[in-house]
Amino acid sequence: MSATPRTPSSVLIIGSGVFGLSTAYALATNPKYKETDITLVDRSDFPSRDSSSIDTSRIIRPDYADPAYAALANRAQELWRSSEWGANGRYTETGLCITADAGGTNYGIQSLKNVREMEAKRLSPDAKVTRKESRGFGKPVIEVLDTEEDLRRVLGTGGTNGVQGYVNWSSGWGDAEACMEYLYQKVARTQRVRFVSGTVSRLDIDHSSTTKIIRGALLNDGRHLSAEFTILAAGAWTAALLDLRGIAQSNAQIVSYITISEREQRALEKMPTALNLTTGLFVISPSAKHIKLARHGHGYTNPTTIPHPELPLEEAYHNPINVSLPRTHLTDPPLPDYLPAEATADLRKLCTDLYPPGAAPHDKTFSPLPIAQRPFAGTRLCYYTDRPHGEFLIDYHPSYDGSLFVVTGGSGHGFKFMPIIGDVIVQCIEGQTPPEFKEKWKWPEQRVPEDQWVGDGSRGGAKGMVLEEEYKKGGKARL
Ligand SMILES: Cc1cc2nc3c(=O)[nH]c(=O)nc-3n(C[C@H](O)[C@H](O)[C@H](O)COP(=O)(O)OP(=O)(O)OC[C@H]3O[C@@H](n4cnc5c(N)ncnc54)[C@H](O)[C@@H]3O)c2cc1C
Repeated sequence: MSATPRTPSSVLIIGSGVFGLSTAYALATNPKYKETDITLVDRSDFPSRDSSSIDTSRIIRPDYADPAYAALANRAQELWRSSEWGANGRYTETGLCITADAGGTNYGIQSLKNVREMEAKRLSPDAKVTRKESRGFGKPVIEVLDTEEDLRRVLGTGGTNGVQGYVNWSSGWGDAEACMEYLYQKVARTQRVRFVSGTVSRLDIDHSSTTKIIRGALLNDGRHLSAEFTILAAGAWTAALLDLRGIAQSNAQIVSYITISEREQRALEKMPTALNLTTGLFVISPSAKHIKLARHGHGYTNPTTIPHPELPLEEAYHNPINVSLPRTHLTDPPLPDYLPAEATADLRKLCTDLYPPGAAPHDKTFSPLPIAQRPFAGTRLCYYTDRPHGEFLIDYHPSYDGSLFVVTGGSGHGFKFMPIIGDVIVQCIEGQTPPEFKEKWKWPEQRVPEDQWVGDGSRGGAKGMVLEEEYKKGGKARL
């Protein structure tokens, strides 16, 4: 589908996660849209506590196996590092240690190649950066770690979560909630965006002629938001509003937090984030007296039957579809306050491997229990919107004559692009998708059954797990 024929008089953005909010900012600050009414609707007041963009931390890295994403992430990271985006503790550069079990992973090998090439360019005679000024301050920015001993030295926790890998000291992490708050305030200050609190129950689809048109959205409290142009950025909930079978799927990822003391925080906060690509298990550098343990895995699906979201209402109930949709600590009924047993076991093992009792720092005045034996202070399921090859989906929906633009498919790696993705999305709306992303981000010609998806090669752990079935196998509160 081609670009909108002209600048729309009204735009409705559904979802105020990183994709929706950054699009709102880009539109609100672009002179071309100065006459356009911009409305942003979200089912909760900002910040949406179970959205994927809100959490304690998100990894910010150019370490990608795909050179196109590596270069895009590198552009974003320059802004995190050297502009207001990363100021006031929003961005911290503690490094990223990509590890693997024996045998390694192709993703890790390709990623190392890409970051080395980018670093060589940064230090080339033509570039302004000298080795002394580079992030390593004279030390190598990227170090290959051939042995467990190398990993232990670099991690500094007394343990490790892999047997080999590399560290990129110029990667870091962002305080996700603080970054989102910063972006939200930037949008609010433009005074160009009307924020609406409400849950979209359906897109308002005009079926009256052979060419279907989206005329805005219907809310579950009966309100109607009309717009000439609708941008759907509802993250893992997008599948409730569009038929995304074979195109994008919501998958629950496990997260848990352990409280540490001020002293332990100081002893550990310089450790790089450690991500094992074989198991998917990772720990982000500790922040705000918390260690966050998580798994970049294939996740759990949560199959749910819903009326067809794109058929007229009278037909929708007779043609239900089955899709995976988020069930979170805020849905009704909420999730239990513990994770399935296999998840708890995985995260516990990660914790013991990385912070072995007796070797990791332990502030006995804070807790008699070493870090690895402390109960989780909290757990959470956070949802990825996965695509067959881990690509974002940023394109017009082909069935609605240019009235609907879809921005989703974060595939577990969308957050880091916050400083630039809004402008890139507006470029795509205007038919100027960067050439290297044209194929990757387009609405696909074919739907591919989910069990045939290969992903981007960065995920570890088991495939095919279903949330309800895993909970039935058991789990214990706050283990
Ligand atoms: C556990 C976890 C770890 C991650 N780690 C990283 C990382 O380290 N680095 C990285 O770059 N990325 C990471 N990601 C991915 C990144 O967080 C996501 O790609 C990104 O946040 C997705 O943003 P979004 O705007 O698409 O979705 P969301 O942030 O989920 O926003 C969607 C919004 O839509 C709203 N909404 C939904 N349905 C409706 C409706 N019917 N009506 C109105 N509003 C609605 C929701 O309330 C929400 O605010 C991680 C994701 C998870 C879950």
